[in-house]
Amino acid sequence: MEISIVQVDPEKRKAKPKDESKLGFGRVFTDHMFTMTYHAGQGWRDPAVRPYGDLHLDPAAMCLHYGQLIFEGMKAYRGKNGEIYLFRPEENIRRMNESAKRLCMPALDPEVFLEGLKQLVMLEKDWIPKSSGASLYIRPTMIATEAALGVHPADSYLFYIIVGPVGAYYPEGFSPTKIYVVEEYIRSAPGGIGYCKAAGNYAASLMASAMAIEKGYTQVLWLDAVNRKYVEEVGTSNIFFVIDDELITPPLGGTILPGVTRDSVLRIARAWGVKVSERPLSMEEILAACQDGSLRESFASGTAAIVSPIGQICYRNREYAINEGRTGKLTERLYEEILRIQYGEKEDPFGWRLRIA
Ligand SMILES: *Cc1c(COP(=O)(O)O)cnc(C)c1O
Repeated sequence: MEISIVQVDPEKRKAKPKDESKLGFGRVFTDHMFTMTYHAGQGWRDPAVRPYGDLHLDPAAMCLHYGQLIFEGMKAYRGKNGEIYLFRPEENIRRMNESAKRLCMPALDPEVFLEGLKQLVMLEKDWIPKSSGASLYIRPTMIATEAALGVHPADSYLFYIIVGPVGAYYPEGFSPTKIYVVEEYIRSAPGGIGYCKAAGNYAASLMASAMAIEKGYTQVLWLDAVNRKYVEEVGTSNIFFVIDDELITPPLGGTILPGVTRDSVLRIARAWGVKVSERPLSMEEILAACQDGSLRESFASGTAAIVSPIGQICYRNREYAINEGRTGKLTERLYEEILRIQYGEKEDPFGWRLRIA
């Protein structure tokens, strides 16, 4: 499929942020976006890189009413000599198609997706930050556009990709977070859509995170819907614990988002000879390990931060410190390893980097 390119006049382009240390996350977007439309019976059509701008949607567009809206989150990284890399993009593409399938949305051709993404990133390459840890965030999105009320899969869709520079997550070094275990709300249940990056999952999570923030915590630690006993995720990240010498994360199984970072952490740790388990982990076991001193580390994993150390957990009004509130050794080592692979600063034993320039 031929991708058409319509560029914004050079003199009409946005001013790029001057101070990369003040970028933050998700507020600045570039001059162009990738779009492609789908109609039942015709398939995906008109892939194009074109000026970034408002979407035209009928107020009855089904994404606005019934939530057929899925997305992805990935990044482009600039190496020391100006090389540009993507990190395991085929995993995000595959996951987006898993989300699409679950929400009765049409699959994307992985080749067209990747080609559109590359062309957009290449056109916007001057927007990719140069400072260490900063990157270009990439947000592929698919929405149902059919104008009709009534709950059924839509017959038309828009796929688009927007990108924007984001700052380093840890400009002043790690600061372990405090997390709050929520029992009255859940984010996901067996048979539901918890394994998809579907908008509704995040709407459903807002109330619990607002509650955690009000109580002075950074994130919510989600428990399983059935027993309210086993840990599942933290905020919008996967979760890991180190108990004795075992690195533990809950198993995938429909209620947990299969993070690309989660998978990368597991593979690296296994290659290092760390004992790694994907198994159910109860709050009871965590608290017991905390009390007998065998709970060494805990961290969250995701594209935005790579890993984010957890220093404290609040459960049933009691606070439990992990590693005296400091970042663990394995946590830090995993962070450094993944960061250096992403930025082309070390060899890439797993073949995860895709160099595009
Ligand atoms: C995106 C996301 C993650 C992390 O996935 P990565 O591919 O590592 O970025 C974990 N949990 C939830 C709920 C997410 O939305």
